[in-house]
Amino acid sequence: MRMQTQLCVLGVLLHACGPSPSPSDGSTDAMVDANDAAEPPALAALTAARAAYQRGETRIDLDGDGRAEWVLEGRVGNGRPTRETIDSSNAGSPDMVWDRTGAVHSFRLDRNRDGRPEFVIESRVSTSNPALYTHVVSEDTDADNTVDLRRTFTPDPAQPTVAVQYELDDGSNRWMAGGWTTMVPNRQRRVTAQVPTTGAGACTPAQAAQIQSALDAALSKGTDCLNRMDSSLALQFARKFAASDVRIDCAETDPSSCGWARLDEVGSGWFGSGDDDVHVSLGPASFAAPCPALEQTLFHELMHFVLGAHSFGDGSSDTGDRIWGCEAACFLPSPTSLHCAQCLGALNGTPRCGSSFSMRSCAGMNVSTVCKSTGTLYPSAAACAAACAGSCAQRGPCGPRRA
Ligand SMILES: [Zn+2]
Repeated sequence: MRMQTQLCVLGVLLHACGPSPSPSDGSTDAMVDANDAAEPPALAALTAARAAYQRGETRIDLDGDGRAEWVLEGRVGNGRPTRETIDSSNAGSPDMVWDRTGAVHSFRLDRNRDGRPEFVIESRVSTSNPALYTHVVSEDTDADNTVDLRRTFTPDPAQPTVAVQYELDDGSNRWMAGGWTTMVPNRQRRVTAQVPTTGAGACTPAQAAQIQSALDAALSKGTDCLNRMDSSLALQFARKFAASDVRIDCAETDPSSCGWARLDEVGSGWFGSGDDDVHVSLGPASFAAPCPALEQTLFHELMHFVLGAHSFGDGSSDTGDRIWGCEAACFLPSPTSLHCAQCLGALNGTPRCGSSFSMRSCAGMNVSTVCKSTGTLYPSAAACAAACAGSCAQRGPCGPRRA
């Protein structure tokens, strides 16, 4: 599958990217048919949903339960809908709404349907450059069902870094004045490793095969795992990959990187340019230790396209970072209630984590803490209290303390 670009960009697509399999299809599809027979249910459901999306259907079953929870409005042919909804628990009203009808395109998640969303993305054309989009991402990070962290950024594909303005709630549902701005890399790296460089980053055929099977595993295990924690999140994940092409290349040459997704492309995938492509770059290090299994790396990168950027820095020292939490909950050999709660942005012990995760007490756990006036992340509440002139907010499932 060789392409003409210098980097030999490899298009790795979901199983059902091509026409719907039929007995008369050519050899490639025949192989897909053979694979389909052994597909795990979550992947088969996603494959079917993807085919339905591409046929232009407007009511689609994302999880194979026989109910079309994903409703697409305003489609012309198999084009992009103007409005989409998902009713994840068959409540009769949607908990997730994507709206492209106005100048500001938006996504709203209201899990408990109380009229106050817990996760909101708003995207509009940048006022300073009409080629760019400004995204405002608001989320509930202390599990009180009200958004309390807001990030505003305008990623530029031509720039290596993105200025992200952070604002925190002052504790009474008002944004603190000003907030602070942090430069973050456009490339949201997964993790660093030390592996020798082996030259330019084209994928070999063997790597391509590995990538496809790892992508299948990431989607399948990821959907199953997210569904054990929160059906809304699982359906959000499935929707993204039913409607997008996944492109994975081997262009990364940095020997310390296991893989990355670009914030500008994550933002475009929400609403921006009209391009729903999901793009992840891997490098030589991605295929060997100390990087984790490829399916784990891919799941991490794919989650960026659902949840956006890491909350603070690369998120690895933030006990409230949801992407790291979901990765741990889905790929550690013995994930605990803490990993599940971190993934959901919930408090430890949330019933959503149920019996799939062994209960782990918060006693003695590290709780990273952010200084609300400067945005500096400290490893503990004590360290924050000692250095921060204003108030501190603890992060993650063991963090928030409310009166
Ligand atoms: Zn990441």
